[in-house]
Amino acid sequence: MELEEVACPLCGISSDVIWGRENGFIARRCEDCGVAYVSPRPTVAAIDEATRLGQHRTDAGVLKVEYRPIPSSLKLYRGKIRAAFAERIDAGRPLSWLDIGAGYGELVAVAMDILPPGSSVLGVEPMEAKARAAQAHGLPVRACTLDSLEGSFDVISLMNVFSHLPDFRSFLGDLARLLKPDGSLFLRTGNGGDLSRRADYPDKLDLPDHLVFAGRSSLRRILEEQGLTVTWEDTERLDTVRGAAKLMVKKALGKPVPFLLPYTSPFRDCFVRADRTMV
Ligand SMILES: [Zn+2]
Repeated sequence: MELEEVACPLCGISSDVIWGRENGFIARRCEDCGVAYVSPRPTVAAIDEATRLGQHRTDAGVLKVEYRPIPSSLKLYRGKIRAAFAERIDAGRPLSWLDIGAGYGELVAVAMDILPPGSSVLGVEPMEAKARAAQAHGLPVRACTLDSLEGSFDVISLMNVFSHLPDFRSFLGDLARLLKPDGSLFLRTGNGGDLSRRADYPDKLDLPDHLVFAGRSSLRRILEEQGLTVTWEDTERLDTVRGAAKLMVKKALGKPVPFLLPYTSPFRDCFVRADRTMV
């Protein structure tokens, strides 16, 4: 399989610091900004194909990346959206909301339920099988690319999308063009880039499906580059007693996960709202 070497996607420096290994791939961590990234990695064409089909073809065989729907995320998204966009929801004016990487439509369903009457919600999901599954539940999720989208949105959400982006700079730049002048991005991503030890990451790394791991400060820097300012942030920890028990089961099944004592990991699942700085 064809691979390409890449440098830190934030500062362009090549790092020799090996942070983690999985599925025959190596994640390196930039000593300058802390961002962890896979190098060498599949080509962008191979990444695009894997995103559409839900599987990576690696030298070790086919690697499925079709995550299942997570019913508990409905409650989580409801709470986070209410908290992050309280003033916009309470104002009662309709909002236009675009969810990128909508998956099975979990966030789309929540947004349709809690946004003010007259709001419009659209999900975009590159994996056709997932988009079809969402449509079967009556959810407006389309299997299309960003360039086929028209209009502009009050909010664009990216739940666990960031780590999959081979070039977040150009991707976020494209999104900024779809945002209204006073629009907001709403992101969910882990702070893997804040962890000096891979052992603190409380799960598989899912390489090479995950290509980049930012941290809380590097994410701010990445958003600021796009003219976006973080105005709201919240975090969840995964190293609960339940989370640690789940890892022990995975470890027993031979999955590449670390042992973790509850409430010891600096890993956080981060939720961030970033508002466009008016120009
Ligand atoms: Zn860097």
